[in-house]
Amino acid sequence: MSAYKILYICPQTFYGEEVFLATFIRISNFLNAHLDEIPMEIEEEYVDLRFEDLPQYSSKNKKAFRESLSSFLSNLYENFPFDLVAIGCFTSYMYLNSVEIAYIIKSCLDVKKSIKIVVGGYHPSVCPMDFQVSEIPSYIKNNYNITSTPFDYLIREEAELAFLNLVKQIFIDSDFKKKDDMKKPFILSTQLIENLNEIPIIDYSLYKKYKANINKSEKVYLEFSRGCAFNCHFCPVSGNIVKSYKNVRYKSIEKCIEELKVIRDTEWLKPKHVIIVDPTFLPKKEFRDSFLDALSKIEYPFHLAVNERIDTCEIEKFPLYNKLKIRLLIGLETGSPTLHKRFNKFPGSSTKKIRQYLEKTKQIIIASNKYDVPILFNYFSVVPGSTWQTYMESENFFFKPLNEKDGRSLSEKYKIDLIFATYAGYRGSKLVKNCKKRFGAKIYYKEWWKKCSKNQAMMASSIDPSSELSFPEALELAYNFGVRHFRNQRRLSNEWYSVVRFMALKTGKKKAIELYYSKNEKDRLEKNLLSII
Ligand code: SF4
Repeated sequence: MSAYKILYICPQTFYGEEVFLATFIRISNFLNAHLDEIPMEIEEEYVDLRFEDLPQYSSKNKKAFRESLSSFLSNLYENFPFDLVAIGCFTSYMYLNSVEIAYIIKSCLDVKKSIKIVVGGYHPSVCPMDFQVSEIPSYIKNNYNITSTPFDYLIREEAELAFLNLVKQIFIDSDFKKKDDMKKPFILSTQLIENLNEIPIIDYSLYKKYKANINKSEKVYLEFSRGCAFNCHFCPVSGNIVKSYKNVRYKSIEKCIEELKVIRDTEWLKPKHVIIVDPTFLPKKEFRDSFLDALSKIEYPFHLAVNERIDTCEIEKFPLYNKLKIRLLIGLETGSPTLHKRFNKFPGSSTKKIRQYLEKTKQIIIASNKYDVPILFNYFSVVPGSTWQTYMESENFFFKPLNEKDGRSLSEKYKIDLIFATYAGYRGSKLVKNCKKRFGAKIYYKEWWKKCSKNQAMMASSIDPSSELSFPEALELAYNFGVRHFRNQRRLSNEWYSVVRFMALKTGKKKAIELYYSKNEKDRLEKNLLSII
């Protein structure tokens, strides 16, 4: 009897850094740790379409992409006749490509009927209905000669347990639960791993064939904990659709250190940075202390980058962070107290607390310069809830002299690395859900992930942030802020602010505004046409 073959597919994406998240590895490692529960030998293969020699999926390239992918998968099938395909639709920017892949497998491969397809990731977790046949864009489904959804199963939230149970069930009944409704995928019940120590120590072998791409990216991703206790309203998981995010769980210190050693000792893996993807870096103080203590006893050739929050950040640890090569990624978002309150950035956002929060932000910036701890701050250029006042407040935070004697501002005196980000309207965030009612904001592309366009990311951000500020006006304010900050930072010889980065900011603004006006014009013409009809 030949082995049961599982193919994991990472789709192409319209936007975002091409990172190798550990998700497929975790699923595969978990499955392999439970092989004694499966009555058959398992073989696995991973393909990452972002790095295969295929045309980039786009509105102009659809036909070429479909033909190339169809022949790529047929060739793959000859050597590895897969029974089950797991598609990781990790972001909404991967939605259309995930749908195309599923249709191609179900309609173009000879053995299409017997292959099962399961999809999981952020987008299926938040928008499971998008995988029903009725919600799939017509320009895709009309191209294929099948009337059912190409997806058999859908996993919401964490996938290890659900995927293992799916494989076990398929051996009992190969058409498990799929007979009922061909128009929708069967949604597997969400199952969380309560004790993260049950997750096997990471083994990266599944990704080895892409070692050149991984090493070129210089980054490897890992998690020490899962879930987040906070409830920032702009966060894609704040709408409580993804329940597991509210369930905070930790791995043991031993396991965290063990996994870092695996990365260090995996001969083909040479990352410069290990990114710990936890929403916040070990917020429990005793746990963090023990981890840092254990970390200081091992040697490793990479930097560690961790997500940190202003309120949980321990400035007194900066000398140690410098020694341990720890870098921080902090969601600063804005210097405006009003916006922080609107974001519900931390529990009980009273005026006094927000003032303290912004004061601590300054202290963190000063300490990062003093102890040479690199910090990347996320900063929203345009975000729902912004008004003229919030832009002014944020400018004051960065550009007002720190004190009369010195006369220099935070931006003039200290190196501050900002990632300028326009806010993408993800379904799932409270801010997106309520922004029209609360601030008079207008989202121009409600289902931007269904637009097959290289401008998908700009469409996602095309939002008038409030009734008093249009998107172009807000972007202009953000751009002027950016130019002023760029100048100050160049005077401080801050290498983060390169000419290339500046040009990207400038051209990005121009394109985003053009797209906004073309959409407005299209909407206006459509409205006029409807009134004539
Ligand atoms: S933005 Fe970060 S800290 Fe805030 S709710 Fe989301 S994951 Fe948690």
